[in-house]
Amino acid sequence: MDCIFCQIAAGALPADRVYEDDDTLAFPDLRPRAPQHLLVIPKRHVESLASTQDDDWAAVAACLRTVQRVARDRGLEEGGYRVVANIGSDGGQTVNHLHWHVLGGRLMTWPPG
Ligand code: 5GP
Ligand code: ZN
Repeated sequence: MDCIFCQIAAGALPADRVYEDDDTLAFPDLRPRAPQHLLVIPKRHVESLASTQDDDWAAVAACLRTVQRVARDRGLEEGGYRVVANIGSDGGQTVNHLHWHVLGGRLMTWPPG
């Protein structure tokens, strides 16, 4: 298993497991880009939204539910927050395991770089 997010999901690499259920896991980004910066992943390996198959959509929905949950638990709903999925090389994806960034605690700018 050479995917670092699969290793984190399996507990083979350490991470602060902020929230998890059968299908999803949330943990802090190693290099936070905002006062609050979590990653939400499906536990099962899916490379990106570009390669999501019919039987992956339930996991995608579960991840978005986890995004909502962790943002709520962290008190981000009132001020707002940003959810980002980088897809492929032009999208800036560096870890090829589907994930959402949940960023909050500061004013976000637009457009992103
Ligand atoms: P991407 O660039 O693919 O959208 O996001 C990958 C994110 O994973 C980056 O923000 C990076 O800081 C984070 N990351 C990479 N390796 C690790 C790790 O081993 N642990 C954690 N917690 N985050 C990681
Ligand atoms: Zn993986």
